[in-house]
Formats: sequence, C-alpha cells, structure tokens
Amino acid sequence: MNKNKLPKQEENFSDWYNQVIQRAELADYAPVRGCMVVRPYGWAIWENIQSALDKRFKDTGHVNAAFPLLIPMSFFEKEKEHVEGFSPELAVVTIGGGEKLEEPLVVRPTSETIIGHMYAKWIKSYRDLPVLINQWANVVRWEMRTRLFLRTLEFYWQEGHTAHATAEEAEIETRQMLDVYTDFAVNVAAVPVVPGMKSDSEKFAGAVRSFTIEAMMKDTKALQSGTSHNLGQNFAKAFDIQYLDPNNQLQYCWTTSWGLSTRFVGAVIMTHGDDQGLILPPRLAPIQVVIIPIFRSENEKESVMKATNEVEKKLSGLRVKVDDRTEMTPGFKFNDWELRGVPLRIEIGPKDVEKNAVMTARRDIPGREGKSSLPIDSLNHQIPTILDDIHDNLLAKASKFRDDHTYDPQNYDEFHSLVNSGWVYSYWCGDKACEAKIKEDTKATLRCIPLDQNIPDGKCIYCGKDAKQKAYFSIAY
Ligand SMILES: [Zn+2]
Repeated sequence: MNKNKLPKQEENFSDWYNQVIQRAELADYAPVRGCMVVRPYGWAIWENIQSALDKRFKDTGHVNAAFPLLIPMSFFEKEKEHVEGFSPELAVVTIGGGEKLEEPLVVRPTSETIIGHMYAKWIKSYRDLPVLINQWANVVRWEMRTRLFLRTLEFYWQEGHTAHATAEEAEIETRQMLDVYTDFAVNVAAVPVVPGMKSDSEKFAGAVRSFTIEAMMKDTKALQSGTSHNLGQNFAKAFDIQYLDPNNQLQYCWTTSWGLSTRFVGAVIMTHGDDQGLILPPRLAPIQVVIIPIFRSENEKESVMKATNEVEKKLSGLRVKVDDRTEMTPGFKFNDWELRGVPLRIEIGPKDVEKNAVMTARRDIPGREGKSSLPIDSLNHQIPTILDDIHDNLLAKASKFRDDHTYDPQNYDEFHSLVNSGWVYSYWCGDKACEAKIKEDTKATLRCIPLDQNIPDGKCIYCGKDAKQKAYFSIAY
C-alpha cells in the first residue's frame, strides 16, 4: 500500500473515514476498547463547536453548571422507560477505596436523573422558574460497536436541562433548541441538516417527544447530529420536581433536555471530506488560512519572509498558520494541509513578491480553478470574503448532494431498492408496526418527520392506509 495515498471514498468509505482521522491527527484509539483519544487538532474543532453553541445557549438565556460524574444506581430506577433504555449501556462502579460500596454508582450516560434530583431541591415556587442550565461534560455508554467520534464508550457533549411552569413553555424550549442546533449546523458547520420529530420507537428513553437534526453523510447514510427532548412531567414526577403556583397550589414542573456531542465532528468529516482528506468549514477550522513561503536562496528567503510577515499581520483577525518548516518541500506541505482540510492556502514566492501579490488556493475547489493571484494590499478585505464564499459553497454542495440522493418512491418495491442509495421520503401512516416491518426488511430506520408539513393526505408506503405525514427513512450510523 502506498503510505501517502488515502483510500478512495467510493471504494471504501469506512476505511477512508478511519484513516483520514488518524492521518490528520484528529483522534486515536485508546487502550480501552471503544474509547478514543481526541488529539489537539480534533479537540480544536470541538472547541470551535463549543464556542459557537455556547454563545447561542447564552443568547437564549441559559447558564452553565457542572454536575457529578457518579450517580446513585437507585436514581435510574425511578423512571421506568429511562432505566429500560439505558441499563444495557451502563458502566457501574461497585468498589470505592478498596471497599464494596453499599449502593452501586453509575458513571453518567446522561444526567436527567441527577439534575432532576437537584432541581427538586432547588425549585420551590413559580418565581424560581424557568431553570435554564447547560453542562459541558463527558459521559459513558457501554457501546458494543464503536467508531471514532461517531460512537465511543466515552464521549464529550453538552446537555441542557430545563424546568418550566407549563407544558407550552417546555415545548417552546424544546423547539427553540432544535432551531439553535439547526442554525449552528447550517451557518457554522455548513452541514445542511433536516430538523424533525422522532417517531415513538426512536425517541429518547423517558421523553414525551424527541426532535432531531439529521444529516446525510457522503456515503448517503444518515447521522443523527443533535437531539432535543420534551420530557413532559415524566422526570418531574419521578424526582418530585414541584413548585407552588401563584394560587399556592403544588404543581409538577415540565422539563426538557437537549444535547450535541463530539459525534458532530464525525458529521463534519463525512459531509465535506474528499479523496484528498478533510475539508473543514471555515467557521470551525482550527486553521482557516495556512501561509506557505516558497524560496530557494537566502536572498529570496529575506524578501519572501518579509512579505509573509506582512500578510500574516493583515490577517490578524483570522486563525492563520505560517508553515515555515524548512525540512519539507512546498509540495509536501500542500498535500499535508489539504489532508488536514485547511480551507485556504496562501503561497508566497519570489515572483509573487515582485508583483506585491500572493497566490491563493481554495480547498473546496481543486486544481487551477480554485487558485487566484491577489494583491497583498487587498487581503484584509478579500480573504474573509473568500472564507465566507467557501462556507456557502460547501453548504450548497452538501445540500445538492443530499437532494440528489433523496427519493420519493412510488411503491414499496421501489422504496426497498432506493433506500440503499440514499434517503427515502415517504408517506407513513403512523403505525409503529409499519415502521418495524420496514426496518426488518430494509435495515432503514425512520430518521425524522419534518415539522410543519404542508402536503395533501397520501397512502402509507408500507401498508397503503391513509397517511397524513411524510417521513425520512434511511440506513443510519
Ligand atoms: Zn402503514
């Protein structure tokens, strides 16, 4: 095998994915099966995801806090669906300080129970509501089949947990956070997600309604990329989260939870990457512009480095790296930064310096077509515009890819064959038996039911009975 060549996406997408992550130094395998080590370049992407989301959370009135990693086992048993959903995945601590513990402790797979317990203590009156808290944390789910970023034993995420006085407020919050995730995915990550509602069989364990953003990966599979749950009064009743209303009557709260994880890094990799490696959307890229000075003699070096410093200063508001490694050829550096997905490369050689210009090369447009010579004086205006244009182009390309691979079959036979090459958007009667049969026959799951559908009534793609809504079905990660 040629060490320098990535597998082609079309030939082996999964191998491409694993190799690009390791070669671009985003993450590595840990000694414990199913765990991952997030390397600095991968963590820097996550940090940019965090800051974009954190700003949106705070703009919508939320605050951050930190809850413990260990949760008493008995807490899980308080909400029936929740414990049924999570018990196969729990990591349980039974020994502490060399002694067997009186009560086993669960390493949190999610924090509804511990946070519910604390909310019961903190919330007394309608004046205490709403409570709008988020935490940035790591969680553990004992998964059997793991993939870097997509599904690992331990992963990093944020989990928002809110408590409200009324059902309406909780629903508004749940939808608001779905909108926040959609806005982030589209406008920061250039990932054209489809927001919608989960079916009952796919919803979160313990939720009344779950909402999701679904993204199509380049192998046409769906990736659930963020979720927002309306928990109704299920957790409030299990944990006694009650408040006195203005008439001094005791009422149960209405709660929500919502989360987005390091899985989203996987979404970015598989939405934009190509055979040369990663393509990072400019607003998430740890390095937005890489500058490569090119010279052969000491004389050339002096003038080229002088221009390089000038360019770097002009781009001070951006995330810029100057690659002045002397032990590598420019050609090697071009390939290296292409593999790492840096959105824009600037080359500065003696001929460019003579013209007081630089050569730029866009990662999203390969070859000559993506290159242009720009005057140094204009860079502080032009480079941010080019980065915005790269964002728009990535979003447009991914949207077109999704639309080109979304089908509306005429009958179930057609459904069956099309679902292996993309998403299928079909009428569904709402019966979970049809959904289960489809899954059994095709391995496709119901990804989401888009909101606000304005469509005439139709017939269920499986049973032919009347259907009022259409849903996306797909093979999923
Ligand atoms: Zn049906």
